[in-house]
Amino acid sequence: MSVPQISVIVPMYNESDNLPELHERLTKVLAGMETGGEIIYVDDGSTDGTSEQLELLLQQPQPVCVRAVWLPRRRGKTAALSAGFAIARGSILVTTDADLQEPPEVLPMLVAPLRSWEAHMVVAWRQQRQDTAFRVFASQVFNAVLRWLSDQPLHDVNCGTKALLREVAERLMGWMRSDMHRYLPVIAARMGYRVVEAPVPHVARRRGRSRFGVSRYLRAAVDFLPVSLLWWRGRFAWLALTAASTILVGLRSPLGWVGLGLAAVWLGTALAFWSRTR
Ligand code: UDP
Ligand code: MG
Repeated sequence: MSVPQISVIVPMYNESDNLPELHERLTKVLAGMETGGEIIYVDDGSTDGTSEQLELLLQQPQPVCVRAVWLPRRRGKTAALSAGFAIARGSILVTTDADLQEPPEVLPMLVAPLRSWEAHMVVAWRQQRQDTAFRVFASQVFNAVLRWLSDQPLHDVNCGTKALLREVAERLMGWMRSDMHRYLPVIAARMGYRVVEAPVPHVARRRGRSRFGVSRYLRAAVDFLPVSLLWWRGRFAWLALTAASTILVGLRSPLGWVGLGLAAVWLGTALAFWSRTR
């Protein structure tokens, strides 16, 4: 069997309602491309029959290579993606969500800049987002903060649909814990890779609910700490907090100790991640 050039990785937590249509459309898209391709479904400890459905799918003849990883319990989207990266064989890796919010048909357009060496990573940019107003607002704030911090002109860093060279995925592996999938494009850009975005249509989730609750905002905030210190603006903010807190401690204000505590946690998380990066 020839080695596939494109590996599509799909993390799935309880997506049995979406899997049939997703699989049909993804295989069609991949089979229509002249490069060989494989699909890697990562079952993130689903409890709704996704795992069994995947087993059946693997027993049937398929027009493209289909592989699967089953995580023994739910470990989150970042861990699921990382398990997919670890076994992917393609020189180009594509990630996409199972809920079909970004049409799989955009895949060839997404990998084109990688094949022509114009970019190392391509992030889909959802146009006319079909999510709640609050989520769209939160995403706009998130992206604006990251643009300020990183100086990267990106608008939809957390879109689940992305394409990247295998080399970039390998370098990012050290960052793939907690919910860091949200930050991968800016981390890749900080590593020196050229990250571009490609506008894609967006549709509302037709089946099932979002798998992330409000805790996503807390996780995003905690993960932001180590990410922020990658840039001088983040380091400056850390220094300013430390200096202001030290002055407050000098003035015997309890707020100063709170600030110093936060600065210590901030630096601690950064050191924990950096030690895994190299
Ligand atoms: N997902 C996962 N593990 C989780 C949460 C989500 O594998 O703990 C998968 C999910 O099945 C989907 C993708 O990650 O394929 C994105 O999740 P979702 O659509 O719920 O996120 P949203 O679009 O609301 O950000
Ligand atoms: Mg979704």
